[in-house]
Amino acid sequence: MTVPIRTSPGSAASTASVPRIFKPQRAVPADSVRPTRAEVNLAHLRSNFYRLQQLAKGRPVWCVLKADGYGHGSKGVARTLERAGAQGVCVALLEEAIELREAGIRIPILVMGGHYGRAMGELVHHHLIPVVHSTSQIEALANEVRYQEADPVPVHVKVDTGMSRLGALAGEIGAIATAIRSRPEVRLHGLMTHLACADSEDEASVYEQLAEFEAARERLAQAGLSPAVLHAANSAAVMRFERAHYDLVRPGIALFGVSPFADGDQTLRPAMRIVSQIIALREIQAGRAVGYGGTWRAGRPSRIATIPMGYADGLSRGLSNSGQVLVRGRKVPIVGIVSMDMTMLDVTDVAEASIGDEVVLLGSQRGPHGESAITAEEVARQLGTIPWEVLTAISRRVPRFYREP
Ligand SMILES: *Cc1c(COP(=O)(O)O)cnc(C)c1O
Repeated sequence: MTVPIRTSPGSAASTASVPRIFKPQRAVPADSVRPTRAEVNLAHLRSNFYRLQQLAKGRPVWCVLKADGYGHGSKGVARTLERAGAQGVCVALLEEAIELREAGIRIPILVMGGHYGRAMGELVHHHLIPVVHSTSQIEALANEVRYQEADPVPVHVKVDTGMSRLGALAGEIGAIATAIRSRPEVRLHGLMTHLACADSEDEASVYEQLAEFEAARERLAQAGLSPAVLHAANSAAVMRFERAHYDLVRPGIALFGVSPFADGDQTLRPAMRIVSQIIALREIQAGRAVGYGGTWRAGRPSRIATIPMGYADGLSRGLSNSGQVLVRGRKVPIVGIVSMDMTMLDVTDVAEASIGDEVVLLGSQRGPHGESAITAEEVARQLGTIPWEVLTAISRRVPRFYREP
């Protein structure tokens, strides 16, 4: 089965003649409506990229920008990193890859998710590099290349060395080698695997996975195939396991200034601030309830501020009656249940808090009460999750603004 060839003006086939224009897609001018927004600091992003490049001793860095660039907006992030010297981009979905190609990104794009359905033609058409793990994928891709009379397509073969998620098992490598060797339409460019425990204490498991990975490379070599590049390193492995660096590295979270380790890392700079504003303020008597279900009751006369950000924006409902945000440089508690579009704060102890005050949900703030910060690591700990989830939860409803310092 094939999919009709697309001929949109931004398509890869015609990128050479198309100017690179990055148009944010918004229904209304974002600065005219909601004060709730994400600010992405491009200098911090670049600084983290250079740090990772340095840790990888100059090896190519293929930036992992799946899930809309970990919530930072993949197009803006990819353009910045491409200019900073990134040599490739990795995404999970075909749709994510096409979005980047259509935004004018020209460096190689690796599609790691492993499922292309009936859209193999899109991979070929947009010059994307698929990650494959089965002989049937290689066969389907070769058929598509022949049908489109396209140049041979480079693929990266994924090996399962211990995640038990995606990738060929040791016993399947031989058949994959045969499938590739018998199809000139498909060219083996890379061999990759993914580590399960690079961010934990379990060093032994990392070395076991790498040994299995190297055995897979041997098996391919015996079958007469030698991929140009091997890769295995996510952020944690870039930072802690030099043996996993091979020919290129694939960091994600660390690019955004968030450490993959529980004990943090002082050399990374958080790239995103999430801010909102106080839009309503009221004094309530002791004993009065706040929010759905009346789960919080004022124990004293209190000042309650409302911000226009709720769980539909990615502020987890799990922060109800437990999270904190910054007002005037000081931490204040979220009170009541976080609702879909709004959240309430107890600002009784910030006497001069007023309507229009900036509220920081993620990132740092300086104010009359000093300087403070709320990190994704901190919010994740509080929610019993990981910072990856905190960042990717920020929804499309929150406009992203890109700034140079
Ligand atoms: C997400 C992902 C990465 C990047 O992981 P981080 O921990 O965010 O650095 C690398 N490789 C694969 C296969 C991934 O799915």
